[in-house]
Amino acid sequence: MRTFLDSDGMVARINELRSEKNAVILTHNYQLAEVQDIADFVGDSLELSIKAARTTADVIVFCGVRFMAETAYILSPDKTVLLPSLESGCPMADMAEAPDLERFKKKHPGAIVVTYINSSAEVKALSDICVTSANAAEIVASLPKDGKIIFVPDMNLGSYVQKVTGRDMILWQGFCPTHMRIRAEDLKRRIAEFPDAKVIVHPESRPDVINLADEALSTGGMLKFARLTDARQIIVATEVGMIYRLSKESPDKQFIPVSEQAVCPNMKMHRLETVLHSLETMTHNIEIPEEIRVAAAKPITKMLQGLQS
Ligand code: SF4
Repeated sequence: MRTFLDSDGMVARINELRSEKNAVILTHNYQLAEVQDIADFVGDSLELSIKAARTTADVIVFCGVRFMAETAYILSPDKTVLLPSLESGCPMADMAEAPDLERFKKKHPGAIVVTYINSSAEVKALSDICVTSANAAEIVASLPKDGKIIFVPDMNLGSYVQKVTGRDMILWQGFCPTHMRIRAEDLKRRIAEFPDAKVIVHPESRPDVINLADEALSTGGMLKFARLTDARQIIVATEVGMIYRLSKESPDKQFIPVSEQAVCPNMKMHRLETVLHSLETMTHNIEIPEEIRVAAAKPITKMLQGLQS
């Protein structure tokens, strides 16, 4: 029978198993504090993709949502990639399915398919290049000027990129339910409460929320902004897990969430217990059929290499 372990006991056991199995724990910025604190690396989708591609570990325990673990496997098929809670999917990624994208591509022949990393392996396999919120505008701006562009699946990020780059894009109508819960009225209220604060928002937010911000940034971009700004108070429009990460890195500043409702339940499924169980039982193993993996690796690699279509 398994002995009950308290938090310290679980952390100690996770550390033993991590070293025994030569494992690395990669954790997204939106994860619970307890899961951020045991990570080898905490970051945004782009940073985690790069870490997954470069790690020398044999096992990657991915504390994020499923498409992130899939991306790790796509880039490192020789590693064992574990997702502690199999239910942690991304509703936005689920809004674009491969057969629908295939039909959509037929309606827009010749269009370049730019796909947000928040997508399934099957959808990536049908894409020309992947982007994250950290590099989407830069990559879209670098694409041939005369080509049509399909942007999948986030309409809010797509619309923001369209505005920044001036490129005409055909937008898939997906969205992040968590960021959609952040309303312009809530942000206006916060700005009135904290008139000296800077406002940073994630570009998955609604356009009227983005329009009120000083900067629209990926979570990695938010951390950099927080380190460099002279502002003492920063209003943050994204998933609330980010407040912990920001406060830990820049403890001298006050971070104010726009909405406490902006919680992604899928990101909160991993806990110390599930990470420990994952390492003990080597579950849940994320794998992708080789044909899809190879096809999906191309647009991700193109993004990572900064190549253009
Ligand atoms: S925060 Fe939004 S985009 Fe990120 S995993 Fe949750 S639902 Fe998906």
